[in-house]
Amino acid sequence: MSRRSGKFKRMMSRLFKERQIYHRSDGVVHFISMSTKTQIALAFVVGSALLWIAYASVNVVFKEQIIVAKERDFRVMETTLSKRLVDAQIAYDDVNMLNHVREEQFDSTMVDISARHQLLVNMVERKAAIDQSIDLLAKGLSAAGGPNGLKAKNGNRVMIDIAHGEPTPRQSRISILRKEAAAEISTKNHTASREGPAANAVRTMDKAAADLFMEQMMLLASIEEKATTQIETLKMMLESTGVSSSALITPAKISNIALAQGGPFIEIANIDGTPIRFFQHANRASIAIDELAAIQAAVDHVPLSSPLIVSRRYTSGFGVRRDPINGRRSSHHGIDFAAAWASPVTSTAMGVVKFAGRRSGFGKVVEIDHGNGFITRYAHMSRITVRAGQKVALHDKVGELGSSGRSTGPHVHYEILFKKRPVNPRRFIEAGRYVFES
Ligand SMILES: [Zn+2]
Repeated sequence: MSRRSGKFKRMMSRLFKERQIYHRSDGVVHFISMSTKTQIALAFVVGSALLWIAYASVNVVFKEQIIVAKERDFRVMETTLSKRLVDAQIAYDDVNMLNHVREEQFDSTMVDISARHQLLVNMVERKAAIDQSIDLLAKGLSAAGGPNGLKAKNGNRVMIDIAHGEPTPRQSRISILRKEAAAEISTKNHTASREGPAANAVRTMDKAAADLFMEQMMLLASIEEKATTQIETLKMMLESTGVSSSALITPAKISNIALAQGGPFIEIANIDGTPIRFFQHANRASIAIDELAAIQAAVDHVPLSSPLIVSRRYTSGFGVRRDPINGRRSSHHGIDFAAAWASPVTSTAMGVVKFAGRRSGFGKVVEIDHGNGFITRYAHMSRITVRAGQKVALHDKVGELGSSGRSTGPHVHYEILFKKRPVNPRRFIEAGRYVFES
């Protein structure tokens, strides 16, 4: 046995030396003798119990703290998660909202485009109808030729462009319009631009819509330009007859036509999100078309042709001349054409037969009312083929050439009265030729 274990043994036997425990009951003293071994065993049992209690207590105390810590961690995690969930919900709502906004934007863009398209289609169709009428008149007048029946050498029946002398201001106007359209597009895009996964698709859509808008604006501008040029040409033609075009197409008449069609045909206040500039230009183009329609209708009723479309000779002019019968100086209120006996005498514009019969000096005569104060007179005919009240179109036969009345030979005496005053018919025939042939 080592020195150490000997020492331990001595310490133990000193600590747990044999003890007697006395106790008295009913006057008798008892004692219990406790050996060292018993004491050690007892100490061991008591010590173990104490240790267990200590361990259990510590465990209980710290477990509480562990649970508290775990709960705190869990709450932090829970808070973080719910915050993320809320963020995700907000992001989802944002995307949803953006989608919804885009959908609405797309729908409204489509509505805008188709509304503008319909408007343009109507305008183009209306313009085409007017052009067709102008073309018809041009072909008729071209076929009739000049006072002597001479036709243009090149046979070109296209209206000459009187306005092409000033191309620069016209081109600059188109370029101004192009700039305006571009500005309109950029302001529209700025408000809508937003980054996102669908941004490219959105940009493509916006670009396509913007391009279409630009094309529509250009089409509008070209309609307005062409109509304006035609108006200028027709006005110039009317002026060259010696009768002011304003006497035939009064501003009141034009505004009445515009009013009859609802005036400025779109209430700008009623258009939501549609470029106002488009409708401003559309209104201007529409007003130009209205004016063109008015002037075309007026021109259709102006006697611009010859009373004979067959081979003929221009024999006598308008104004003061020596009378062919008595030789005295007198005023000739019309012009004379000679041609083969019974050649068809034809209306020089559309109108209504006002008089068909005999008149002193004129012989067998037809008078046609063309409206706007114009009346044409066809005299010395051998036969009349229309009745009063009958509607006639350009170049409709009204009678046959002859020598009735105060006449020296077969010819037609042709007069134009504007507001009851005779005007020179030759100026009208030349005006028609000048404009409709080149
Ligand atoms: Zn005459």
